[in-house]
Amino acid sequence: MSSSVSLALRDVHLAFGRNQVLRGVDLEVARGATACVIGPSGSGKSTLLRTVNRLLEPDRGDVLLDGRSVLRDDPDVLRQRVGMVFQQFNLFPHMSVLRNVTLALRRKRRLGDDEAVAVAREHLDRVGLAAKADARPGQLSGGQQQRVAIARALAMQPEVMLFDEATSALDPELVKGVLALMAELSAQGMTMVVVTHEMGFAREVADTVAFMDAGVVLEAGAPNAIFEAAQHPRLRRFLSQVL
Ligand code: ADP
Ligand code: MG
Repeated sequence: MSSSVSLALRDVHLAFGRNQVLRGVDLEVARGATACVIGPSGSGKSTLLRTVNRLLEPDRGDVLLDGRSVLRDDPDVLRQRVGMVFQQFNLFPHMSVLRNVTLALRRKRRLGDDEAVAVAREHLDRVGLAAKADARPGQLSGGQQQRVAIARALAMQPEVMLFDEATSALDPELVKGVLALMAELSAQGMTMVVVTHEMGFAREVADTVAFMDAGVVLEAGAPNAIFEAAQHPRLRRFLSQVL
């Protein structure tokens, strides 16, 4: 694994037209730590993640990796440093699992065919899917497809991993395997930001839990502080609805 970095968002603002979606987001994730972002639908969680790998550009504020602003970097280079996994796995349905993983290795990391295949197989093995290399995504369960998407991201040797409701589209019995893989990655020292509705995962795996509401991180802290001693009434109300 390539070494991970610290991540910080500082006073990040972002509007879509007149819809002010991020209103000064602050978030600190130490090197190798996992932050879980929780909060109601529409509060800006996905938008926040997208500013980190510059799928969206903040109007104001800064995004820092190891203390260095990424806002002037080449977005393509940045996206190799910051892997992202989505709710919908976004695999190419007409390509084999192996090709899904080798594609970016050849195009972005510029690996030759043999090396790309070797790296891809290593990462498919890591997520327990070496035997499925020649299958099409459609022949896999949702949980297996999501693990392929994670392998694809990891193969790029990212320094930070972002997960946007990675288990929300899965059948309940498939959620566990994907969460276990994410927990393993966290334990191995990957810096991660995980947007999730899985409060059990947040409680057990997160170093920091950040509650987003209406475009700001309203409260952040250790899982115990958030789940056992929430300060803000809006957070207490949210938790009473989801726990
Ligand atoms: P969450 O992930 O917390 O549910 P989002 O970040 O997806 O919230 O969305 C926050 C707000 O931003 C919503 O009002 C949504 O409609 C708006 N929004 C998100 N993406 C776009 C976009 N690409 N264009 C316009 N509005 C958007
Ligand atoms: Mg979202």
